[in-house]
Amino acid sequence: MTEWHTDPGHLCLYPFMAAASEYVDTAGITLDDLISAASFERARLRGKARVIEAIKDATIRKPAIISPAQVDMELSSYPFARILVSCIGDGYLIRRYALSEAKAAHERLAGDASLDIIYEMSEEFDIQMEFFPHEDQVLIAFSDYLRFTTNIRDKRWRLVNRGMERGKVKLSKDEFVRVVQEAMYDRIKQDLPLEVPKQICKAIDGYMGDIKRELEENRKKLGDVGFESLAKDPDSFPPCVKTILGNLKEGVNVTHGARFAVTSFLSNIGLTEDEIIAIYKNSPDFDEERTRYQVEHIGGDKTGIRYTAPSCATMRTYGNCTGTDDICDKVAHPLTYYKRKLKLKAKKKKEKTVTKGQVEQDEKV
Ligand code: SF4
Repeated sequence: MTEWHTDPGHLCLYPFMAAASEYVDTAGITLDDLISAASFERARLRGKARVIEAIKDATIRKPAIISPAQVDMELSSYPFARILVSCIGDGYLIRRYALSEAKAAHERLAGDASLDIIYEMSEEFDIQMEFFPHEDQVLIAFSDYLRFTTNIRDKRWRLVNRGMERGKVKLSKDEFVRVVQEAMYDRIKQDLPLEVPKQICKAIDGYMGDIKRELEENRKKLGDVGFESLAKDPDSFPPCVKTILGNLKEGVNVTHGARFAVTSFLSNIGLTEDEIIAIYKNSPDFDEERTRYQVEHIGGDKTGIRYTAPSCATMRTYGNCTGTDDICDKVAHPLTYYKRKLKLKAKKKKEKTVTKGQVEQDEKV
């Protein structure tokens, strides 16, 4: 094994690497130690802190490692954090935790000036590449590029917008590191939630209370800026829009087409840019600047042309027409659905008022 792979301090920065779990195995750390040994209490507390940092800050702090005991604590806190999120079993928490670990590792990786790290990561994630440091260029195999970039939505990552050389995709070093972040996310999220026996979850229940409270707080904050607080009438939104908004709120990765559909829909019914941006805040790869640019573009502030939301036929073509109901049978466009439902609601309200007035009149007579 190459030397850089086994430096314990280095492994603490990337605890999801194969060499890190080998280190834990070789050190003889068992599941029982992790769950109940008094000597692992600090590791358990650090594991809990990892999850709380993920919820609060969407990243994980990387402490300075100065002793072998700290290495053991840091490296064993990672599997413990995975056990905790698995026992809680909340889909949003799992995605947020995985993304936070990947982001923290990405920050370290991006700041690492050594060239070895590029080779190390390509070896770790089995990415075929050629690195030309003097030209700040990495060529990666076409299949590896596709494997790790499907969830990156920025246009510049689309294959048609990339340069190719000898059948390989050209990237800068920074772009390669971004691809590695996706590979890290996949690795961390892999197998989560773990199948943890009930008695183990029960044994570590004491570490979960604070996490659940933090999660609840975070959900409330998101609720304040999310779907429920939209100035318009979210109850009248078509099922397709409700599904996409629900996924965004839960931090599920939403396709580019679905984002375009929901942004143009909300822009067409008059939501402000800030209201629309707030809806994206829970996305795994939220980047305020980029989101603002895209929202401004779709809303027409940048171009003077406001995009109309896609029709039902287009929504169906791209698999974004979900959960249809009776009103859907009568419309060809999500905006028509919305207007129709608003009208139906207003009509029902009026009928109710008339009936109430009639009853009061009858009672007087
Ligand atoms: S039929 Fe149209 S409005 Fe209804 S869910 Fe599908 S796309 Fe949305």
